Amino acid sequence: MSKIIASSAMRASHEMVKRTEDMLDKAISEKGKDFVFEFPDTAYHLPMIYGMTAFKVKTLGDMKTALDTAKHDLHPVPEDHLWKPYLGETLDSGMVTLFAEEIYLALRYINGLEPAVDPETNFTYNGFITDTIQRNLGIQLVDGRMPGFAAIIGAAPDEATAVKIVRELQEKNILVFLSGQSKDKNGKLTSVTKQLLSQNIELGWDTYIVALGPDTEHTLYALDWALRAPMIFGGNKAGDYKTLLKYSKDRIFAFALALGDMDDLKWATGAGAINMGYPAVCDTDVPVIHPTGVCTYEHVDKEFDHSKIVQKAIEVRGLKVTVEKPPIPVAYGPAFEGERIRKEDMFIEFGGQRTPAFEWVRTKELDEIEDGKITIIGTDVEAKYKAGGQMPLAIVVDVAGRKMQDDFEAIIERKFHHNINEAQGLWHMGQRDIVWMRISKQAYNDGITLEHLGIIQATMTKNRFSAIVDKVQVTLYTDEKDVLRLQDEARAKYKERDKRLAGLTDESVDTFYSCLLCQSFAPSHVCVISPERLGLCGAYNWLDCKAAFEIDPTGGNQPIAKGEPLDAVKGRWEGVDNYLKSNSGGAVETLNLYTIMDNPMTSCGCFECIIALIPEANGVMIVNRGYAGMTPAGMKFSTLAGTVGGGMQNPGFMGIGVNFVTSRKFLYADGGIKRIVWMSKNLKERVAEDFKARADEEGISDFLDKIADETIAEDSEKLMEFLASVGHPALTMDPMF
Ligand code: SF4
Ligand code: ZN
Repeated sequence: MSKIIASSAMRASHEMVKRTEDMLDKAISEKGKDFVFEFPDTAYHLPMIYGMTAFKVKTLGDMKTALDTAKHDLHPVPEDHLWKPYLGETLDSGMVTLFAEEIYLALRYINGLEPAVDPETNFTYNGFITDTIQRNLGIQLVDGRMPGFAAIIGAAPDEATAVKIVRELQEKNILVFLSGQSKDKNGKLTSVTKQLLSQNIELGWDTYIVALGPDTEHTLYALDWALRAPMIFGGNKAGDYKTLLKYSKDRIFAFALALGDMDDLKWATGAGAINMGYPAVCDTDVPVIHPTGVCTYEHVDKEFDHSKIVQKAIEVRGLKVTVEKPPIPVAYGPAFEGERIRKEDMFIEFGGQRTPAFEWVRTKELDEIEDGKITIIGTDVEAKYKAGGQMPLAIVVDVAGRKMQDDFEAIIERKFHHNINEAQGLWHMGQRDIVWMRISKQAYNDGITLEHLGIIQATMTKNRFSAIVDKVQVTLYTDEKDVLRLQDEARAKYKERDKRLAGLTDESVDTFYSCLLCQSFAPSHVCVISPERLGLCGAYNWLDCKAAFEIDPTGGNQPIAKGEPLDAVKGRWEGVDNYLKSNSGGAVETLNLYTIMDNPMTSCGCFECIIALIPEANGVMIVNRGYAGMTPAGMKFSTLAGTVGGGMQNPGFMGIGVNFVTSRKFLYADGGIKRIVWMSKNLKERVAEDFKARADEEGISDFLDKIADETIAEDSEKLMEFLASVGHPALTMDPMF
């Protein structure tokens, strides 16, 4: 590293440690050494310190120990060095800074100062990034929807430039973290967060712009998050710091844009980030450092032209960004999916019980379709659209392709929601005949017409399904009588499809599919997806995988020939075992699809729910991601998740997709749904309808009422009382083990 930078970083590191130490001493004198602290919703303590050293900071006293030890690393190393056994060496000043910053932020939490609030606008920053959010994002990371992350530190020269940079990142689906401040071109101390807020840009996870906090120290939250990925998804152990850093460098495509003047603390924090393999591009005249020799991690670059800085960073980090966008007059990408359109901002709406509306994919012969044709059928369409308000609407998308199958209609249709929502100023909810769409006044003013709805569906259907769809044409109907007439036809088709889907069983097919997408984060994890068991993230079912394989035969979804059944009850097949042996990196030798007790499926990290054995109840509990309370297993979701993920088989614990709960193959070998003794309330509500149907099938109609939730029991004792009082079947079933 350049000498000037190194001495800046060293200076800041000392200063940061000193500042934190003073705060910490004060906190200890007020609250005592045993005062307990944890960041919200994480199983990884102070993740940076824990990941690097395996040292669990649980109290103020632990913070003192960690800080004292880290401090020594700025000097020659003493023999009794606490984490020398783990590190084998000392921390550099960048890492010491990150440790100090982490403790500093923890202290700010204790003092009620985090998440920070902007005094001028009352805007609340995100603060610490929870494990739950990390898991929510997991799937987008692996399926390529989100190619990387940018941490923007400081402020742009002016508001317009800030908006331009962020919009460019959003359109490339890059998640943006904001922190720190610097002077703008008028010499005013500000930040990109404030610049965006002043332009009424919506910030938050939904829009891919996450403001962590106002200061440079808050950048640590992004790094904390990155360092957890190898532990959450990769099955790597805390303290195995070399592996963790290598994972973050190889698999987490992050970079920093440092805007405005650099100060000592920015250099020191940057030095920490460089340890993790994240390069920085500055818009000031900094010494450029290229990776050389053994030091392949270092990389600082500069670009003064703000219209090129994003591109520069993408090149420096080696990101692969492929964006497919329909020709429309508004911005487009997943970052715009989360926008809401309130009534006041709405120009026109369709459906949502207000007008008849539906959307429908029809398979046609190749010669029946004129590719790319958009037709609008209705009386006075233009005048009615221009008047705004409400309008009936049918969107009928005809597709044809040599590899098209009827089974894929539903899959193409399900993407309609994303296709429309990803356009800025367009909003979509529901599907089929319960669809509801809105176009904002802004989007209307930008030139969005009815025809664009067709253009979006046609372009994106072809982009997303290029291997199965050769031709698309879209017809929009706007007269109520047409919409109602065609809706009857569509409804008959929906019904037919649902019937066929319900008839798809594991026995009725000879091929299952794998999903290997999560291997980019959890290298040994394989989801085995059968008609009656969807992937644990909930995003891929058997039909999705079948279509995905048609679309990309060398992609992440591969057919698995079931082969000879080895155990029909537990759900074990020769072909599946063989496939796993060669595709799980040796982690899985054999798998039983229908039990949690004996060689169950592995979990990556993005499971929608976790099932865990409750031995004393002779049953299982299921908790959904997003439930932050205690469970009768004595662990919160975040803690449970830490024991489940990483691509290992853990009898008694398993990650699953929500819909698996109501599958006939759910724990089939263990006794099925009768084993469920507890479910988080939100999950109960989500599955209620299908669950009741399943319970009827099992001849236990009121069974859902016999399952406890957090309003009934959060610990084992209360749970047992409840189960006894309702006569839960699990109590009298065969022992689970
Ligand atoms: Fe990951 Fe499994 Fe979902 Fe595929 S199905 S994305 S492997 S969790
Ligand atoms: Zn996953």
